[in-house]
This record gives sequence, C-alpha cells and structure tokens, in this order.
Amino acid sequence: MTESIHNVIVIGSGPAGLTAAIYAARANLRPVLIEGAQAGGQLMITTEVENFPGFPEGIQGPQLILEMKKQAQRFDTNFITGDVTAVDLSHPPFSVVVDGERTYRTKSLIICSGARAKLLGLESESRLMGHGVSACATCDGFFFRGKEVFVVGGGDTAVEEATFLTRFATKVTLVHRRDKLRASKIMQDRAARNPKIDFLWNTVVVDILGGESGPVTGAVLKNIKSGETSQKKTEGLFVAIGHEPNTALFRGQLELDDRGYIRTQPGTPRTNISGVFAAGDVQDPTYRQAITAAGTGCMAAMEAERFLESAGLENGSATGEGH
Ligand code: NDP
Repeated sequence: MTESIHNVIVIGSGPAGLTAAIYAARANLRPVLIEGAQAGGQLMITTEVENFPGFPEGIQGPQLILEMKKQAQRFDTNFITGDVTAVDLSHPPFSVVVDGERTYRTKSLIICSGARAKLLGLESESRLMGHGVSACATCDGFFFRGKEVFVVGGGDTAVEEATFLTRFATKVTLVHRRDKLRASKIMQDRAARNPKIDFLWNTVVVDILGGESGPVTGAVLKNIKSGETSQKKTEGLFVAIGHEPNTALFRGQLELDDRGYIRTQPGTPRTNISGVFAAGDVQDPTYRQAITAAGTGCMAAMEAERFLESAGLENGSATGEGH
C-alpha cells in the first residue's frame, strides 16, 4: 500500500470539524476527516437548535450536522469512520492511529474532538446510567413522561435541561450544591417562573437508589450546610454538572490548561505545536456553542492553509486515500 502524507487531517465531526473540512476542501487541501463512533458531536444529542443563524424557524441538531456533512462531502472531504486511539505529534509529519490499527500521516492537524458530560462519580450513577440516570435530557426526557425527576447542577445546562424536562415530567427538582445558580439571568428567571420546577439548595447527591438495573426510585441527599442526610423519592436523575474536553489522547504532547482544554494562542486556533490547531469545544470552556465551534473550525482551516503555504508544504500529492 502506498503511504501518502495528507495535507490536513481533521479529528472530529461536530460543527468545528465539519466547518474546518468545508474550508480546507474548498482551499483544495483534500482534507481527511476522522469521525468517531459517536459521529456528529453534541448536536446529535440535541433536539431543536434555535440560535444557529440562517434557520429562522430552528433546526433539529442531527439535521444541522447532516447538512454540514453534505456540504463537506460536496467539496470532496474524505471521511474515515473510527476512533482515534493514538497520535504522535513529536515531529511532522504527525501520525494519527485509528482503531488501533490504521495509521494516517499528515502535514497539519486540526483537533475538533469536543467535550463530553461530566459525571458525579458514584457507583450507582454508572450502574443506573440509561436505567433512570441520564446525562442528556434532550435524549432521554421523553422516557420520563408523567414522572418526577431530579436535575443536578446549577449552570445553564442544568437549568436548560430542567426547563426542557418540564415538557414531560410532572415535577422537576433542581439539586444544586450552593444557594445560588451559576446559570445566566434569563435562564434563571425562566426556571423560577416555571411552576413545575423546584429547587433544593446546598444539596449534593451521595447515592442514587434503585434496583440492580433500575428503575431509579430515589436518591440520598446531603445538605452541605447542616451535614444532614435524607432520602427522597425520584424516578429519574439527570446529571448536568458541566463538560470535560476529550483531550486524553493529547496529554503530554500538547499544552492543556488546568481543566484539560487544549491551550490555544489567544484569538487563534494555534496550539503550542506548529501545524497543529484546535477548534470547537475541545479548546473552549466558555462559549461552547455550535456557532462558535463552527467559527473556530473555519479559523483553524485558514490557519492550516497558511501554515502549509508558508512552510512550502502544500502540494496536490495527497491523495486522501492512502493509509
Ligand atoms: P458550568 O460549569 O457552567 O456549570 C456546572 C454546574 O454544575 C455548576 O453549577 C457547578 O456548581 C455544578 N457542579 C459541578 N461539578 C459538580 C459536582 N461534582 N457535584 C455537584 N454539582 C457540580 O457548566 P454548564 O454545562 O452548565 O455550562 C457550561 C458553559 O456552557 C457555560 O458557559 C454556559 O453558559 C454555556 N451554556 C449555555 C447555554 C445556553 O446559552 N443556551 C446552554 C448550556 C450551556 P457550582 O456553581 O457550585 O460551581
């Protein structure tokens, strides 16, 4: 098999990765995009997206991803399906190993591997995940029609999920470890006005109750001010305590911040390694929006193009097919 060295490999197929691919493909770089087993990123587990410009009536998250993918395909992006299991960024060309067996080499790399939901770390949480415990209200809310549920967290995600869940649940209790929400004012006001939402302040979940494989029947809660522990009934528990960047693969090779996000030079997608760029949630703990991910994906592709040009590396020899 002839080994080709690609101009640019994009890791990840959310809005950042797909936008990077569209721009790189239109710049004739013949990008290779590696989409993991959970292709499409977090928009795939979202329902209505009402704030992506160009869709005045809103669009479903998976549909938005599909449209972006079609656009990247139209300009000849080479899609490869598989999980990236290792990378070597120690020297160019960089290598990317997919599913532990196929190695791809590239002159530049755009990392758009996104972020995933954080969990509480309880044994009962992992045992009951998918059996009454969930980290995604938009995916699982439907299953809680007519039930009472808890949402854990105090940020925008928690408040948004609690509000969304009132479409199905008869009562939603937001369990927060402090006495003040971190969520934006508008979201807080919306939740406060919703008669189906209750709040449990200064409270943490210490255990989730239920059968070996569900259903969830209750939770053991601890008031962190009084230290008092109590048991409360609930039929579902949604964990909404933030996200963690998917950067385990890059640890020790790329500069990460103290929360594990890839550190980029301010205002750019450049990492500490020349020719390696990062876009989307993997480098953005703050905004985490589809539109900001797409924007940084565009920036990364433009930077990759400039990098290849200035290093005199750009040429048409990358076939986009070789391994
Ligand atoms: P945040 O980090 O903002 O909030 C996480 C929340 O979970 C905090 O209230 C935190 O408590 C709590 N928490 C964290 N760890 C634990 C734990 N182990 N046990 C109990 N509670 C815990 O994450 P979000 O996902 O809510 O939001 C991230 C970013 O995305 C924000 O910038 C947000 O504005 C944005 N976003 C915007 C949306 C929108 O505009 N529609 C929707 C969703 C997110 P504490 O407050 O005490 O730290």
